[in-house]
Amino acid sequence: MANVVLNRSMNEIVEMKNYYSGKLQDKTPPGSVFAAKTSNCTITAYKSGKVLFQGSGSEAEAGRWGQAAPKAVPAKTKAGSNGNLPAGFSQLSVIGSDEVGTGDFFGPITVVAAYVRKEDIPLLKELGVRDSKDLNDEKIIAIAKVIKDVVPFSLMTLKNEKYNQLQASGMSQGKMKALLHNQAILKVLEKISPVKPDAILIDQFVQESTYFQHVKNQKAVARENVYFSTKAEGLHLAVAAASILARYAFVQYFDKLSEAAGFRIPKGAGAQVDEAAAKLILKKGRDVLPQFVKLHFANTEKAVKLVNKKRG
Ligand code: MN
Repeated sequence: MANVVLNRSMNEIVEMKNYYSGKLQDKTPPGSVFAAKTSNCTITAYKSGKVLFQGSGSEAEAGRWGQAAPKAVPAKTKAGSNGNLPAGFSQLSVIGSDEVGTGDFFGPITVVAAYVRKEDIPLLKELGVRDSKDLNDEKIIAIAKVIKDVVPFSLMTLKNEKYNQLQASGMSQGKMKALLHNQAILKVLEKISPVKPDAILIDQFVQESTYFQHVKNQKAVARENVYFSTKAEGLHLAVAAASILARYAFVQYFDKLSEAAGFRIPKGAGAQVDEAAAKLILKKGRDVLPQFVKLHFANTEKAVKLVNKKRG
């Protein structure tokens, strides 16, 4: 059954919602503005502007709202939707993987894949493992120190110098991440062998097809057992544990960088990192930058401008 996806402005989505006012559903999926159901079509509009029409009447129904996107999405896809995970997924034995540092100007990218057996889920909950976005660094460090001996995991750290080389050679950040996730997962599979996980869940950063395109020349994990989802930390504790361990590794690396810089370097990619990078250049020279930052970020140029200004 073909689905149709339209991209519409929020004004148009509000208009649609009014049109379907008699057919709105009480239960709506996360991230949606509304869901409605006609006799032969389910309509779900998302905050992102995507409007999904599903069912035998999807083409006709989408037709009311102007030109349909020519590409119909397959009715069932694992990518990006948690609705397609096996039943009872959160209670399975799963390898989860997640990364940290991709949006930070300073510091590496750290990727961790972690294996959480179903028997260990209650213990991990007890230890406070949950979505790391709800936890501060202090708490993350405390939890990581305990779970690193409970959970088999593998850490990949892509240091700045290597990152900058790969980036300069034309590799996208998406591909770097895919390679790191793939390597981390393979290592964990090796560690736990001959035990096999029920499933592998990757916190999604690209479409599934793109991911497998990126790793096609690598030894890669069998596709059947791999699931992708955004906000995967909430779907299985293995991803939450991976995320905590990746952040722990990132924070530790960050401390080393701060020590090398001789002052506390900030996270993120805001104005404060421009200032810090300028300070670093003034202190140690521009040549050290590739060891500290992701050079292709716009922050590099901003920092250099600040330096020129300061030098007058
Ligand atoms: Mn993630």
